[in-house]
Amino acid sequence: MTSLASRPNHSLTVVSSVIVNYRVAIVGAGPAGYFAAQALLNQSETQVEVDLFERLPTPWGLVRSGVAPDHPKIKSVAKVFEKISDDPRFRLIANVELGRDVTLDELQAHYDAVVLSIGADLGRTLGIPGESLRGSLSSADFVPWYNGHPDYVDLDVPLDVERAIVIGAGNVAMDVARVLAVDIEELAKTDIADHALEALRASKIKEAIICARRGPEHAAFTVGELRDLLDLDATDPIIDADAITAALARTAAWPEVPKDVRQNLEAFKTISERPSQGRAKRIEIRFFLAPREIIGSDRVEAIVLGINAFVDGEIKDTGESITIPCGLVVSAVGYTTKALDGLEFVKGSIKNVEGRVLQANGDAIAGLYCVGWAKRGPSGVIGTNKHDASDVVEKLLTDISSHEAKGSDDDFDVILTERGIVVVNLGQWRKINEAELSAGESAGRPRGKIVTTDGMLRAAGNRG
Ligand code: NAP
Repeated sequence: MTSLASRPNHSLTVVSSVIVNYRVAIVGAGPAGYFAAQALLNQSETQVEVDLFERLPTPWGLVRSGVAPDHPKIKSVAKVFEKISDDPRFRLIANVELGRDVTLDELQAHYDAVVLSIGADLGRTLGIPGESLRGSLSSADFVPWYNGHPDYVDLDVPLDVERAIVIGAGNVAMDVARVLAVDIEELAKTDIADHALEALRASKIKEAIICARRGPEHAAFTVGELRDLLDLDATDPIIDADAITAALARTAAWPEVPKDVRQNLEAFKTISERPSQGRAKRIEIRFFLAPREIIGSDRVEAIVLGINAFVDGEIKDTGESITIPCGLVVSAVGYTTKALDGLEFVKGSIKNVEGRVLQANGDAIAGLYCVGWAKRGPSGVIGTNKHDASDVVEKLLTDISSHEAKGSDDDFDVILTERGIVVVNLGQWRKINEAELSAGESAGRPRGKIVTTDGMLRAAGNRG
C-alpha cells in the first residue's frame, strides 16, 4: 500500500499550540487545477499547502487526453505543471476519485478550502434520430480514445469507410478531422495511443467533412488551426470559394470586424483559392449545414443535414436538406460537466459566481470553489485557465484568511490507505512518466502511452 511522502510544515496560524498552514484540496489535475495550485503557492501572504487529487493515476488532464497528438507544442505546458509539483508544499494524490473513494463532505471537513477543477468531459449530444447508431460518436469519446485515456481504450471506432462527417466548427472538430484524414506517418511520429495508431493505419477514410451550422464568419476555429491545414503533406483542405466571398460581403457591412473573424476569413479565403493538389486525403469545411438525422440500419450509412441560410441578419432553416453518405459521424459540439451529488449545475457547469460555488438559493457554500471548464463552461485555450484560476484563488485567499486554519490531524494518506485505495503520489507518477518517455524514445516517438490503469500502477511500482 502506498504512503504519501510527508511534508514539512511552514506555518502561520496557531491552533491548539500546533502551528499549521491552511490546507487546500484541488480536485482534478488538469490545467485549471495546476494553475490554481500555482496561484496558491506563488503568493506569500497566506501560508498554504496544496493536495491535488486526480481520478486517474496520471495527471495533466486535457494536456494528456485532449490535446491532439500532432500538437506537441501545446503539450509543452506540462513542464510548467511539473515545476509547480516540485514545491514541497504540493502533493499529488492520484488514482483517487471524488464520489467513489472520497466524498466532497470529507474533503470539506478536512481542508480549509476545496477547489473543484473537474473539467467538462461529457459530450453534448445532437438530439437527432440515429445518434446512437454504430459509427456515431462524440468527440468526448473519440478524442480520449486516440489519446490513450484508459476509460476509452475499447471504444468501437469503425474506420472501414471512406467518408467521415464531423459536426461543429470549433477546434475540437478540426482536431478530429485531422486525426481522421492526415497521412498516418504524420501520426506515427506523435504520442498517439498505439491502439489508435494501429486502427488508423488500417483506416479506409479518405475524406473528413466538417459541417458548420452557421457561416464562415461565425466559425469557432482559431486562425492557427486553419492555417495549419495548408501545411498538411498528404491532405487537401477544401473550402468553397463562393461561401467565403459571400461571408466577406456580409461582414463588409459590419461596423467593425473583430480581429479573430477577419483573420479566420483571410485564412478561409487562402485555403479556398488553393487548387486541389490531388492528394490521397481531403478535409472539407462546409457551412450552413445543421444535422437533422443519422441514417442506417445497424450502423451509420448517411447523414441528413438541413440547409440553413442567412436571412435578415438571422440564421434560418430553409426547409431544404441534403443527404451525405458516410460511415462515421463524430459530433464535436461542446461539453458539459458530470453532475456531482449535492451541487447545483447551470447549463452544464457548476453554479457559481466568480468561482465561489453556490447553493440552489444563490448563497455561496463556504470554502468551496470551482475553476476551469467546470466553472465557466468548455471555452478558451489552456492559457485561459491561468488568469481564470488566479482570480478565483484571490477570492479563496481573502475568504480563508478571515478564519483560522482547521489544522485537522487526519491525514488523507492514512484515511485512503485504510480504505484500501492505491494512491499514486508524485514520485510514483514520475515513474509512470519515465516509463512512457523511455518507451517513446526506443520507438522514436515523444512518448509511448500506457493506456490501462493496471499498466500505469505497475509502472508506478504499485502493482507487481
Ligand atoms: P467550440 O469552440 O465551442 O465549438 C463548438 C462548435 O459546435 C461550434 O461551431 C458550434 O456552433 C457547434 N455546435 C454546437 N451545437 C451544435 C449543434 N447542435 N449542431 C451543430 N453544431 C453545433 O467547442 P470545442 O471545439 O469543443 O472546443 C472547446 C474549447 O477548447 C474551445 O475554446 C477551443 O478553442 C478549445 N480548444 C483549443 C484547441 C487548440 O488550441 N488547438 C484545440 C481543441 C480545443 P455554433 O457556434 O453555431 O453554436
